[in-house]
Amino acid sequence: MTTLTPSAKALVPFVSVDHMMKLIHHIGLEPMMQGIADYIEADFKRWELFDKTPRVASHSDTGVIELMPTSDGDVYGFKYVNGHPSNTAGGLQTVTAFGLLADVATGYPVLLSEMTVLTALRTAATSALVARVLAPKNSRVMAMIGNGTQSEFQTLAMKCIVGIEEVRLFDIDPAATAKCAANLAKSGLRVVTCTSAEEAIEGAQIITTCTADKQYATILTDNMVGTGVHINAIGGDCPGKTELAPAILNRAEIFVEYPEQTRIEGEIQQMGPDHPVTEFWEVLTGAKTGRSAPDQITLFDSVGFAIEDFSALRYVRDQLADTQLFHPLDLLADPDDPRDLFGMLDRAKG
Ligand code: NAD
Repeated sequence: MTTLTPSAKALVPFVSVDHMMKLIHHIGLEPMMQGIADYIEADFKRWELFDKTPRVASHSDTGVIELMPTSDGDVYGFKYVNGHPSNTAGGLQTVTAFGLLADVATGYPVLLSEMTVLTALRTAATSALVARVLAPKNSRVMAMIGNGTQSEFQTLAMKCIVGIEEVRLFDIDPAATAKCAANLAKSGLRVVTCTSAEEAIEGAQIITTCTADKQYATILTDNMVGTGVHINAIGGDCPGKTELAPAILNRAEIFVEYPEQTRIEGEIQQMGPDHPVTEFWEVLTGAKTGRSAPDQITLFDSVGFAIEDFSALRYVRDQLADTQLFHPLDLLADPDDPRDLFGMLDRAKG
């Protein structure tokens, strides 16, 4: 089996989409999201060790292409990811991604992986980890507004990590809601389909907004949101793209991943540069308080941060050691004499 650390031959384990899906079925979707959440929690607790930067974004009229790098000093990682809300109309996905881990000591890559599927798991794992800490105790009902690609993963992570028992679905496209309801039919959850966002949030302790639109949208207005709920706002994740009315932000205690990135991309781009937020990692370490009152509105202004991808890739790398679920990839030129790249090329002439 190919080694997972740099070898003389320098073959890099590559996890294809097919292998990723087999790995998820081998481990089980819910145990894998739980495992990724554990890795994210462990990495958030050593937050200060990491190199951090807002993601490097290249915006266009139709969407954004981003690089998300980080390092803990021993391992370096990055993700390439796009966000193109109009893609689905042409039969393409809104979000696709791949990622890489490398050994800091040599700079050699040690893992290349698809991350379109993995991003859905890590986003859901992050949402559920945050909700487990911030949502009202015994939250059992979640509203899921936006029933696209991420929605089933978001729902199942909230089931296995937070313990929700009912999901209430709404999407402006009834076909998306029907797809999501069908996919969740055997989940063990009560699945309720709704015809408006107002109906979806009735009785919900957790409200997840996960819509895709490259504009300031208002998925939730102030009068729709009662006290004592947790809002998991996923969809507002780039400049000019938000989901919540500013009045909700003024009533909520806001938790973020990395403020320098969230102030550019998250719901709080609608607020002043000093609008108070709490970094979620500090709640995990005990340095800051999470929910402090039952009637408080807690809001996770999620944009997706590089450390979550790093954790997910680290989790995958650790699981691969026991499987054959990767291709050894001839990615790195590796001449016998490290200074004779030309000779290697010359000998390959045949
Ligand atoms: P998707 O295109 O597959 O699904 C989005 C759904 O939202 C569609 O079904 C659409 O009909 C629905 N929608 C649009 N406007 C709506 C409205 N006003 N009310 C109700 N439903 C509405 O996209 P996806 O892959 O599920 O991603 C959703 C969003 O989450 C995207 O904006 C994406 O960029 C973002 N995202 C964030 C993170 C993160 O870490 N925060 C990670 C992945 C994706």
